[in-house]
Amino acid sequence: MPRAYELSKTRNIGIMAHIDAGKTTTTERILYYTGRKHRIGEVDEGTTEMDWMDQEKERGITITSASTTCFWRDHCINIIDTPGHVDFTAEVERSLRVLDSSVAVFCGVGGVEPQSETVWHQADRYKIPRIAFVNKMDRVAADMFRAIEMMKDRLKAHALAIQLPIGKEDEFKGIVDLVTMKALIWNDEDEELGVKYEITDIPEDMLDEAHLHRTELLETVATEDESIMEKYLSGEELSVDDIKLAIRKATLKTSIFPVLCGASVRNKGVQPLLDAIVDYLPSPVDVPPIEGYIPDKDIKEQRESNDDAPFSALAFKVITDPDVGKVIFIRIYSGSLTTGSYVYNTTREIRERISRILQIHANRRKPIRDAYSGDIVAIIGPKDIYTGDTLCDENHKIILEKMNFPEPVISVAIEPKTEDEREKLVKTLARLVDEDPTVTVKSDEDTGQRIISGMGELHLEVLIERMIREFGVKANVGKPQVAYKESISRKGKARGRYVRQSGGRGQYGDVWLKLESLPRGSGFQFVNEASANEVPETYVKSVERGAKGASENGPFAGYPVIDIKVILSGGSFHEVDSSDIAFEIAGSMAFTNAIKQCNPVLLEPVMKIQIIVPMDYMGKVMGDLNARRAQIHNVESRINGEAINLEAPLAEMFKYATQIRSLTQGRGSHTMEFSRYDVVPDNIAEEIVPVRKMYGLVR
Ligand code: GDP
Repeated sequence: MPRAYELSKTRNIGIMAHIDAGKTTTTERILYYTGRKHRIGEVDEGTTEMDWMDQEKERGITITSASTTCFWRDHCINIIDTPGHVDFTAEVERSLRVLDSSVAVFCGVGGVEPQSETVWHQADRYKIPRIAFVNKMDRVAADMFRAIEMMKDRLKAHALAIQLPIGKEDEFKGIVDLVTMKALIWNDEDEELGVKYEITDIPEDMLDEAHLHRTELLETVATEDESIMEKYLSGEELSVDDIKLAIRKATLKTSIFPVLCGASVRNKGVQPLLDAIVDYLPSPVDVPPIEGYIPDKDIKEQRESNDDAPFSALAFKVITDPDVGKVIFIRIYSGSLTTGSYVYNTTREIRERISRILQIHANRRKPIRDAYSGDIVAIIGPKDIYTGDTLCDENHKIILEKMNFPEPVISVAIEPKTEDEREKLVKTLARLVDEDPTVTVKSDEDTGQRIISGMGELHLEVLIERMIREFGVKANVGKPQVAYKESISRKGKARGRYVRQSGGRGQYGDVWLKLESLPRGSGFQFVNEASANEVPETYVKSVERGAKGASENGPFAGYPVIDIKVILSGGSFHEVDSSDIAFEIAGSMAFTNAIKQCNPVLLEPVMKIQIIVPMDYMGKVMGDLNARRAQIHNVESRINGEAINLEAPLAEMFKYATQIRSLTQGRGSHTMEFSRYDVVPDNIAEEIVPVRKMYGLVR
């Protein structure tokens, strides 16, 4: 089956917004307007869809959350869910990884809120083209140009109006389109929720303003294209197509961010937003080809966005359904995929069969036979697959750049209320880990408890809430704890020699390990510099396993050791007695011996925080921060109060949401996200270690 849409007519977009800006309402309107068009063209869908729907109803799975597909002006638009809260970093990262562009929804009154800043800067890192939609233009004090100023000021973004609002607050009627120089007016009496709108001349009293802004728009974008520039300079009238092309070019380069406005809940301004998505945002062929590595070789390769290229895709969300098993959302970067075919999971090194491909519409899933490069679809079949895995053509293996997920920084201990609940708890935790790569679960051998770790207090609260509500697990949950780590501040070198001779075949493993510290954020690295005469190739992995295992329990306080390079620098072996296990033990011994020379240090997560408080409470809040080892970076004035930007250790910021409310009579708020691991001052580390020793958690 050939593809239904040319690749150049695909848009993979995210909708990013601060909570309450109107993302849900805007998305619903988008699905409503596009659904109408789609339904007309899709009368003959056959029975497959119904079958699937019935099965699904019985199971009650909810898989719409990761992405949904809709159609507008002959274009296929995939909307990828992009959450607005920073505690869900992984969700934001994974959506940014697979989308090509985004719509940023701002509230016409609040403008750029702190959390939209965080997500915007994440998108900057990926150079994602964006258009801005200033929503809620019907609200008292809504102001599109103030929002534009905030975008320039806070986001350092070249925001440029391509529309003007007509009327204010209750009188907000529609928009002036600065490209076509027409007015678009929605009639409040329309029973069809704003499906129809009238295109008329620009109101007399807005003409001057419209010309002024159009000139600014043209002057900015004309430079994008030489022939358009020439026309513009010679005074020739630019056609609508010329202007659209120029805006498109500038948007794709992120040299401008076109700004539109509307009021989704009043059904105003959404169709022009859809037009702008089609006109100005990139298709998969307009963005650079994806890069990856040939497995086991350090060779970079690209995959062009092209159906004839070898298949490559990234699994960006995995949801486990009790009946169907794993439902995997993938972005196909190159090639095509057919139901029933086999693909290779490079990350897990296994072959998997694709038993179903689904296209997810607003609230329907449509089984399709084939999917093509640029598509975002859900697949069913692969069992051993996790978020971030690469799928590819077995004959053209590639591993796409992994998504970066920060290390979990906070954890709680959890245990079943009764022995009968244990299995359910273990299963549920495994499922949560499958779905969210920033959750880890470990079992504590001494206490029999499970330790769940995540990105923040809210993240853990949501996880535990889901476990109890959604999966009905009865469990006792401990207090949240900081996830400390350890590292080293000096080099060290030691030998690990494991030799046992007890008649028959003995054990022989002998290695030298050198330890060096790495910059923060590097994790654990292992390098082999020993010759094959010293340590044969086949045992190197065992040595690494031994060292890695030993690094999980650091010498300082029993926390995992990170930002460390382990170099296998020499050793010896025995023709008969050497084995994997002997080298693993030798690796572990050498690591434990070497790290004692390295002056270990304790590390704690430090958070980047923004607190917004009305001026009257500044003194109180600052005073309280002094006692929390906070480092204040700056204070900025905002419409809604003073914004304090700071960093502070997570250990000092527990339950801060409650604290800030009580300090400010409910008027202050804060956002907090992981920044980095940093060394714990000696006096504080000294308080932590004895307690750990008392419980036997330190070797
Ligand atoms: P989200 O949190 O960004 O998904 O925001 P929602 O779509 O849930 O909207 C938050 C609130 O704002 C809801 O009460 C909406 O009805 C309201 N809202 C959304 N769009 C508009 C709008 O255009 N004008 C006004 N006045 N309210 C809106």
